[in-house]
Amino acid sequence: MQTVDRLADGLDGFEGRRVLVRSDLNVPLDRSVVTDDGRIRASVPTIADLRSRGAKVIVLAHLGRPNGQPDSAYSLAPVAARLGALLDTRVTHAPDTVGDSARSVVEAMKNSDVVLLENVRFNRGETSKDDEERAVFADQLAELGDAFVSDGFGVVHRKQASVYDVAQRLPHAAGGLVLTEIAVLRRLTENPSHPYVVVLGGSKVSDKLGVIASLLGRADRLLIGGGMVFTFLAALGHEVGKSLLEDDQMDTVRGYLDQARAAGVGIVLPTDIVVAPEFDAESSATVVAADAMPADQIGLDIGPDSAAAFAAALGDAATVFWNGPMGVFEKDAFANGTRAVAEALTQTNGLTVVGGGDSAAAVRQLGFTDGQFGHISTGGGASLEFLEGKSLPGIDVLED
Ligand code: ADP
Ligand code: MG
Repeated sequence: MQTVDRLADGLDGFEGRRVLVRSDLNVPLDRSVVTDDGRIRASVPTIADLRSRGAKVIVLAHLGRPNGQPDSAYSLAPVAARLGALLDTRVTHAPDTVGDSARSVVEAMKNSDVVLLENVRFNRGETSKDDEERAVFADQLAELGDAFVSDGFGVVHRKQASVYDVAQRLPHAAGGLVLTEIAVLRRLTENPSHPYVVVLGGSKVSDKLGVIASLLGRADRLLIGGGMVFTFLAALGHEVGKSLLEDDQMDTVRGYLDQARAAGVGIVLPTDIVVAPEFDAESSATVVAADAMPADQIGLDIGPDSAAAFAAALGDAATVFWNGPMGVFEKDAFANGTRAVAEALTQTNGLTVVGGGDSAAAVRQLGFTDGQFGHISTGGGASLEFLEGKSLPGIDVLED
């Protein structure tokens, strides 16, 4: 993959060049306030480097899942302000992505200026499955720049206009964040030290079940928490009440359990669950046995016995990959499982990698620091797909 340095050589330096940078600035917001700026901070070094070389830096990013049209709830304006504070410069926010505003803002740029264009997903062409529709939007994006740097690791598994198609249209390079992320994840796929323990949780269950198939051949132990647990418990014939459940995945999960047994891989499931009658009924939370969940309750965290067992199962790990919170950590009453796993990771001597937007936000929200982990990946889906051995379109397109 071409580096930023080599791209600079090819262009005779970045001075005065308009460089489009795809960053992953998809951060959690609470009424327009950024509640975890981890991804913005991770994006700063590449942008700062290009500025220092005199480039006009035009940042492309998305926020949330707007419906292919402008929606002020998903505006990047608050992100532009935070990015500016972290870069210690003014970041101009263009109120559209490729329209008159974007073009005139870019036109007015001086060397080392930074512009953040509005949410690329306000345009249908960004995420369209139709190559033609993406091409039209990618052409408009490419007109705004002289070169493209792909630095949004969290989106490289997407064949989207600002990730994939733009790279085909401009001289391009992989940014430092993408290169670092890939180097760390390679250590998990090429000769990981054993015991290799993987912890999976979170709520994007169907997205994540796939990784289990490939992990069964690599990992020694798989700890399952979060919303994913209930598909496993249901597959074992247990009642899961009103918990998150992927009915159509129960056969797949049974298959995994059989495969794991045959391969000698330990699948560790919780033995107790924190339940409540409603999602936000923190005060009514109780702990029940995992094989005796009441039908009118929702499972919202792994229980205390399970948290201790998970911590113990991480004790001797030489390599750990963790994606997905163990419970609804945003609420105190359901954060204990996630806290116990995070704590256990900080105690192991091995390489610990935390991946996923919410997982990364969770460890920081619970008071841990980035330095207590080997690596906090900015990508959830992207890191899982990498571990599955899938090819990532946004990386493949940078190879040539
Ligand atoms: P990541 O972003 O780290 O990949 P996900 O997006 O898959 O993780 O999942 C994060 C979300 O999962 C959090 O918002 C958390 O509240 C939710 N979650 C965890 N456990 C449960 C559960 N038992 N039921 C419902 N949601 C859950
Ligand atoms: Mg998430």
